Amino acid sequence: MSRVYNFSAGPAVLPEEVLREAAEEMLDYQGTGMSVMEMSHRSKAFQEIIDTAEADLRGLMGIPDDYEVLFLQGGASQQFAMIPMNLMKNRAADYIVTGQWAKKAGEEAAKYGRVNIVASSADKTFSYIPEVKDLPISEDADYVYICENNTIYGTKYKELPDTKGKLLVADVSSCFLSEPVDVTKYGVIYGGVQKNIGPAGTVIVIIRKDLITDEVLPGTPTMLKYKTHADAGSLYNTPPAYGIYICGKVFKWLKSRGGLSAMKEYNEKKAKILYDYLDASKMFSGTVEPKYRSLMNVPFVTGDENLDARFVKEAKAAGFENLKGHRSVGGMRASIYNAMPIEGVEALTAFMKKFEEENL
Ligand SMILES: *Cc1c(COP(=O)(O)O)cnc(C)c1O
Repeated sequence: MSRVYNFSAGPAVLPEEVLREAAEEMLDYQGTGMSVMEMSHRSKAFQEIIDTAEADLRGLMGIPDDYEVLFLQGGASQQFAMIPMNLMKNRAADYIVTGQWAKKAGEEAAKYGRVNIVASSADKTFSYIPEVKDLPISEDADYVYICENNTIYGTKYKELPDTKGKLLVADVSSCFLSEPVDVTKYGVIYGGVQKNIGPAGTVIVIIRKDLITDEVLPGTPTMLKYKTHADAGSLYNTPPAYGIYICGKVFKWLKSRGGLSAMKEYNEKKAKILYDYLDASKMFSGTVEPKYRSLMNVPFVTGDENLDARFVKEAKAAGFENLKGHRSVGGMRASIYNAMPIEGVEALTAFMKKFEEENL
C-alpha cells in the first residue's frame, strides 16, 4: 500500500489514523458483529455514535446550548435553498459575493425573495475580501450571507462583516474546524463535511434554536425544514450514518491533537511554509491579496499555462495529487486541510523548488 499526498479541494484528505480505525471496525463495530454501514439508525449503537459526535463537536467549537446541531444530507448546495426557505420571513436577504459558492447561494435565494448583493470581489476575480465594516445592509434583510472561506479562490474573511444587527449566515465548508470560532456571532453556520471533516454526503448545520420554527415559506418540503430534523434529533429519516460515524472519529482526532487552537497553530505553520516560498519564488506566485489568504486553499500560478500543466503532471508523477486549480481559474491549488501533515507541505515546497531550479 502506498498513500499519496492528496491536495484535493474536496473530497479531501482524511487523517490516516481515522481511516485505519474505520478499517479495523469495518466488519465488526465494537462487538456488534456488523459494520456501521449495516446498522439500524434506530439502534442503541448508532444513537451512541451520533450523540458522541454531537457532544464532541459542541466541545470542540464551544457551541452554546441555545444552538442546535443538525447532521443532514444534500451537501452544502442544498443549504443554498434551505436557508431562504426557512429564514426569509420578509423575503429579503443580503449576500456578499466573494466567489462562485456565494454567487450560487445568492442565485438560489433569489428564487424565494429579493437578494441584495451588498458587496462583491468579482471585479478582481475574487482575489480579495471586500471591505465589510460599513455595508449598505437592507432594512428588511432577514439575514446577511457569507462564504467564509472561498475554496476556489483561496480567500478567507479575517473579520466578520458588521451586519448591523441582522443575522449572519455562513458557509464554512472549507474552513470548518480549522480554527476556533465564536459561534454566538452567527445565526447559522453550515458546511459540507467533505472538505475538512469527513466523507461526502453529510452536511452539518449549527443553527440558533429560535430560528427553528414552523414559519417557513409556503411549499417548503418537510425534508427541507430545519424543524423536521431538529425535532427528530437528525433522525427524521435515515441519516448519512456512515458519514456521521467518520465525522465523529475526526472530532476525536481533533480533540487528541489539542482542539481548534492547536489546529489553527498547526495550520498557520503549514500555510506559512508554502506562502513564504511563493513570495520568494521567481517562478511561482500566489494569486490572492496576502491579507486575505486562506489557511486551507492555496492557489498559485507560474504565469505560463503550459508550464502550469507540466508542473501538475510532474507533481502527480512524484506523488503529489490533485494540484490542478479549479477549472474556472486554472493554474494550481494546494488544499492543505487539517489532515494534511506538515511533511506533505514541506515535500511539496521542496518539489516546487526543484522544479523551479530545473525550469527557470
Ligand atoms: C464544496 C463547496 C460547496 C459545495 O458543496 P456540495 O456539498 O458539493 O454541495 C459549497 N460551498 C463551499 C465553500 C464549498 O467549498
